[in-house]
Amino acid sequence: MFLDERGKPVAAPQTTSELPAPETAPYDPMDWEDCPACAEAQDQCRYHRGFAAGMEYQRDLIITVLTDHAAIDQLQQRHGELKTKAAHAHPGR
Ligand SMILES: [Zn+2]
Repeated sequence: MFLDERGKPVAAPQTTSELPAPETAPYDPMDWEDCPACAEAQDQCRYHRGFAAGMEYQRDLIITVLTDHAAIDQLQQRHGELKTKAAHAHPGR
């Protein structure tokens, strides 16, 4: 443990070698084939891993909406509400 001049404990000084390794930012976030950060990580880089997780979550949501009756009912009800609201906001359309 490291102590300051009054004897209080302080966090150990971090040397650069203790910090997490830098990862190149993706130059083109949409380019999964030629991503230097993915190459550096020898896997998906943090950006693309997060992006893939988000895509997977969205896909799961859509599957739920298309296959679950409770979800379909709620979606249709909400859709109806929005349609009614839009019709009142723009009468005559
Ligand atoms: Zn990447």
